[in-house]
Amino acid sequence: MEPFKVVYLAGLVIGSMIRVIYTRGLRRKKGAPTRRESLLVFLFMITWGISQILALVYCVTDRLSFADYSLPIWLQGIGAGLYVVSIVLLWRSHADLGRNWSATLHIKQDHSLIISGVYKHIRHPMYTAHLVWSLAQALLLANWLAGPVALAAILGFIALRIPREEQLMLEQFGDAYREYTRRTGRLFPRFVH
Ligand code: SAH
Repeated sequence: MEPFKVVYLAGLVIGSMIRVIYTRGLRRKKGAPTRRESLLVFLFMITWGISQILALVYCVTDRLSFADYSLPIWLQGIGAGLYVVSIVLLWRSHADLGRNWSATLHIKQDHSLIISGVYKHIRHPMYTAHLVWSLAQALLLANWLAGPVALAAILGFIALRIPREEQLMLEQFGDAYREYTRRTGRLFPRFVH
């Protein structure tokens, strides 16, 4: 198996373990009802999930090889570096957000506003992790179905989800969240104050 496929598969195992370990038991809903979102958000989420299955199929079989493209090896190396960054960020954001995590837009019982750890610099580090992961995926796996589908799905998801999520946080935490947005960047740290 090509080394970049091995890297992708190892990351998929580690990333899935992080998700399972940190979100165990958190799907049970207690607190305010889930905020309605456009159907497209869920379609983008499902597409992103399917893109991981396509990537898996691409790594272990040669069924998708008709959709291959070619990339210079140095660019694939950059993809491997970005992949590591995304996994570390996925881990830290889950650790910092703790029990406030939810897959849908939702305020829990005893929901607290997290502004420390990676959240000190970025408001949506988990989405950043998914974005960087998807970019890395398109570089590691040079295949139209196994690679860039994830990137397209996550960009659509982020564009629709973030404004709604920030609206919800503003309603819940008011000035504390408004003040927090002044100090932080959405997906990347804000260096200019
Ligand atoms: N957008 C964040 C969190 C994703 S989980 C990230 O990318 O890291 C989605 C849930 O997290 C939402 O239902 C929202 O209620 C909650 N949330 C988002 N930002 C938060 C914060 N700073 N503190 C506490 N909860 C937050």
